[in-house]
Amino acid sequence: MAVPQNRVTRSRRNMRRAHDALVAANPAECPSCGELKRPHHVCPSCGTYDSREVVAQVAEVDLDEDAA
Ligand SMILES: [Zn+2]
Repeated sequence: MAVPQNRVTRSRRNMRRAHDALVAANPAECPSCGELKRPHHVCPSCGTYDSREVVAQVAEVDLDEDAA
């Protein structure tokens, strides 16, 4: 088992963790449906990217029908 050769001081540990903060998402409005979406990602609500439909949207999926 690997064992650390030297103790990492509180200072050095905290300096390393200074870069670990999460950054907030930067949602942008979808030009097609106006819903907020992640930049450079297909819109989850209308399935468009660059104003083209790239993911076919199903009107409604009945989950009970498949289970039966
Ligand atoms: Zn959309």
